[in-house]
Amino acid sequence: MNKEKIFFILDELENIYHNETQPPELGHEEPLDGLILTVLSQNTNDRNRDTAYRRMKAVYPTLESVIEAGATKLENVIKSAGLGHTKAGRIINILNIVHEDFGEYSLKPLLEKDSGEIRNYLKALPGVGAKTVACVMLFDMKIPAFPVDTHVTRVSKRVGVASLKDSPEEISQFYESVVPIARCLGGHVNIIAHGRDICHAKKPECEKCVLASQCNFYKN
Ligand code: SF4
Repeated sequence: MNKEKIFFILDELENIYHNETQPPELGHEEPLDGLILTVLSQNTNDRNRDTAYRRMKAVYPTLESVIEAGATKLENVIKSAGLGHTKAGRIINILNIVHEDFGEYSLKPLLEKDSGEIRNYLKALPGVGAKTVACVMLFDMKIPAFPVDTHVTRVSKRVGVASLKDSPEEISQFYESVVPIARCLGGHVNIIAHGRDICHAKKPECEKCVLASQCNFYKN
């Protein structure tokens, strides 16, 4: 992995996207809401995820009411996010585990633990992977983490921060070990924006790209 290139990417993209601070639409007052949103986001786009989440909140305003409804009714309400059966089951399981552990439908008691314990707890929940954990920590718990999604993976590999064989989890660990705490959120959001706007999966617009001078993909 290439440390110098990380700072090149962070600097260049900060100049364009200016996401040094948390965008207002991101983050939840209750981290468990953020976790549910992230479960809904698995294998779908933001629009379908948000439609499902809004519908769930409209029909079941509290997490208690989600549990009372049960998985079958929830599955129907969140179907716009796809994989309704699996996601409803995961959400109900997670809510039950959290309630058993903390006596309430809240992840706020976790905030008293250190970041390693928080990461391990979240990772052990059903259907929760490294990216989901990092998202909840970064956006909803305000704990430094660097989620790596498909856009961050693609840009990192093309520019040459990561090698082609690196997994998203390895790339995430590398960013977390190098990027200063204050730049994690902005860096993550900016790289995603760049992946969506310029460094498309199929036809990257390299002629327009501020990263081209350091990009292995472009040079080759
Ligand atoms: S130069 Fe091309 S491949 Fe490299 S980061 Fe920019 S858009 Fe992506």
